[in-house]
Amino acid sequence: MDSSRLSIAVVGSGYVGLVAAACFAEIGHQVSCVDNDEQKVATLRAGGVPIHEEYLADLLNRHRGQSIEFTSNLGQAAREAQLIFIAVGTPQGETGSADLSYVDAVASEIARSIDDYKLIVEKSTVPVYTNEWIRRVVGRNGVVEELFDVASNPEFLREGTAVVDFLHPDRIVVGADSEKAMALLRRVYEPLTSGEYYESAGAIPGMRNRNSPAPMLEASTKAAELIKHASNAFLAMKISFINVVANVCEAVGADVEQVAQGMGQDSRIGPRFLNAGIGYGGSCFPKDVAAFRYVAERMGVDFGLLGEVEKINAEQRIRFFQKVRSALWTFRGKRIAALGLAFKGGTDDIRESPALEIIRQLLHEGCKVAAYDPAAMERAAAIFPEGENMQYVRDPYEAAQGADALLILTDWEEFQRLDMTRLRSALRYPIIVDGRNLFDPARMTELGFTYMSVGRPGVVHPRETLANPNIP
Ligand code: NAD
Repeated sequence: MDSSRLSIAVVGSGYVGLVAAACFAEIGHQVSCVDNDEQKVATLRAGGVPIHEEYLADLLNRHRGQSIEFTSNLGQAAREAQLIFIAVGTPQGETGSADLSYVDAVASEIARSIDDYKLIVEKSTVPVYTNEWIRRVVGRNGVVEELFDVASNPEFLREGTAVVDFLHPDRIVVGADSEKAMALLRRVYEPLTSGEYYESAGAIPGMRNRNSPAPMLEASTKAAELIKHASNAFLAMKISFINVVANVCEAVGADVEQVAQGMGQDSRIGPRFLNAGIGYGGSCFPKDVAAFRYVAERMGVDFGLLGEVEKINAEQRIRFFQKVRSALWTFRGKRIAALGLAFKGGTDDIRESPALEIIRQLLHEGCKVAAYDPAAMERAAAIFPEGENMQYVRDPYEAAQGADALLILTDWEEFQRLDMTRLRSALRYPIIVDGRNLFDPARMTELGFTYMSVGRPGVVHPRETLANPNIP
């Protein structure tokens, strides 16, 4: 076996684990991808790909049966691996803290399989001090200190561009408290940090290359754990910040896009995550903000700022709903076209999706919803089953057919290319309420729409007047 090739087990085959496993195989390692969901393992073994991610199917096809295998046998995978990456879910618990029971269960099971040195690596997003808990759990199961280390290697991939993010990262963060552990982590990522991978035949393209390889930041385990929580909390704060600025813009009649552009051109601020809209969602930001705040408070640090970030995010959806109300007056029996179900464009993930929250309210108010999403309809149907009031349709035009208004709820790129003339003739009334600011208000007026978005002056079709959104 090639001496640079490591044997790696990745526990959890979700968005992070499956992508990490495929990418570890892609950069030359021998990977065992573990999940306790037998159905998922069977799908993966049979050549299926349970999530929608660009390049993921290609990588799995490239390496399946050679350098990547799928199993539900954690014990055996752990025994055979030099490194074991834990990538199971860390959902929000009742108090806001992260629920670490899956990590705990995996750590105990790994402990029972250790007979030579293993590096256990936290890839899941976990609160600071989790590495110490894992160490304790493994120790309690009778494993002596010399036989293992626990390190942290948080993941920064974004759903929708997960494979490219993994292979062409802004930075790789590794936290370890022993030189032995750090040396192993350096070896894992060497093909990316040396730039060698980017020259290999069939390498997935992206921003990194031989001359600008992936940088690696080495830190203590605790610092690495904190880097992930602090990064997500900061990004969520940026979104909430621009959303409040958008609300000020609405109040004074300014355009938040201009304000965001002016702010973003300041290199100290940067343009990203300054898109006003209906707020953040997904499986990470909401739970990570809550968990970071919780852990800070447990340590005696008041992080009230994060409470505000959450409050603003929740209020943003309510404001949007009020806008829809101001366009429609009453809801019962109205037909609404909803474009977008995923929490953001490019993914089929609907966890904590603001779009679903809006749809829940529309259904509650007695609307009939015709929804379209390029990837997330199957998942959404498990939450809102198809029925008299909830319909899933084949394209945006079918959704718009006979609708009293159309809502944009997810920033899918393909929505930007909609044929507006076709859409207008399909709609019963030419009303669009855009929660993602995808279109230019001036152009929408020219096209004859009543168009409302977030933090930008609304435009009203000459035959229309809108209620004051502040009137309940
Ligand atoms: P996920 O829910 O998609 O996947 C988790 C997987 O772990 C599931 O397939 C589940 O069946 C499996 N699992 C649970 N318990 C197990 C056990 N005992 N043994 C084996 N498998 C088990 O979750 P995800 O989105 O991949 O997130 C995983 C972690 O990574 C979380 O901590 C998350 O916060 C973090 N993270 C997620 C993203 C993202 O964009 N999704 C990005 C960075 C970090």
